[in-house]
Amino acid sequence: MSALDELRAAAAGCTRCALAAGRTQVVFGVGDPHAALMFVGEAPGYHEDLQGAPFVGRSGQLLDRLVRQELGVDRSQCYIANVVKCRPPGNRDPRPEEIAACRPYLDEQVHLIGPQVVVTLGNFATRALLGTAEGISRARGKSYRFGSVHLVPTYHPAAALRGGGDMVAEMRADLVRAKALLGSRPSATPDHVPTPTGASISTRGEPVRGDHAEPLQEEP
Ligand code: SF4
Repeated sequence: MSALDELRAAAAGCTRCALAAGRTQVVFGVGDPHAALMFVGEAPGYHEDLQGAPFVGRSGQLLDRLVRQELGVDRSQCYIANVVKCRPPGNRDPRPEEIAACRPYLDEQVHLIGPQVVVTLGNFATRALLGTAEGISRARGKSYRFGSVHLVPTYHPAAALRGGGDMVAEMRADLVRAKALLGSRPSATPDHVPTPTGASISTRGEPVRGDHAEPLQEEP
């Protein structure tokens, strides 16, 4: 059993936060365990909770289509996960204590998968990983250094479905930006780049724990 499979098995019985009580199952993540490109969303919704996979339904179909058209790959060649692995009741926003309880799973996924680029989908995932209060409209259109990984924020596909053509076009542009970064690593990376959530990732991809915040590491 791989380390990622062991982590999945550990998460399957997790009761670290209150979301355990209302879930059908833990939605750990899907895709290539060695993917160069990783997508991170917010939390499972109704269908994800039932099916056990992130980004199913209409928003998942849009994501799959855009990834296929702009990157030339299908979802099985990427890895897709959420910041929080269990469905919040009524699709409410995850609470800070739930995010903190679940964060080690995401950090370890990034460590074990070792992607070159992480694309955050929507406000929630972008704020959680970059440790910013900035909204996605301002955060997107750039890439950021996230430890040894490039981070490219874009809209949540559900928001793009509601927003229409302009938002979808901007999502496409963000995916093109992510594609251009594949095959490279951020330059001049210090030993550790902390995030204000208290977690950080070493240049070796190893998650470490920090206790202080740093400004956003925007790439040139
Ligand atoms: S949301 Fe995360 S921390 Fe909370 S019970 Fe589920 S797997 Fe555990």
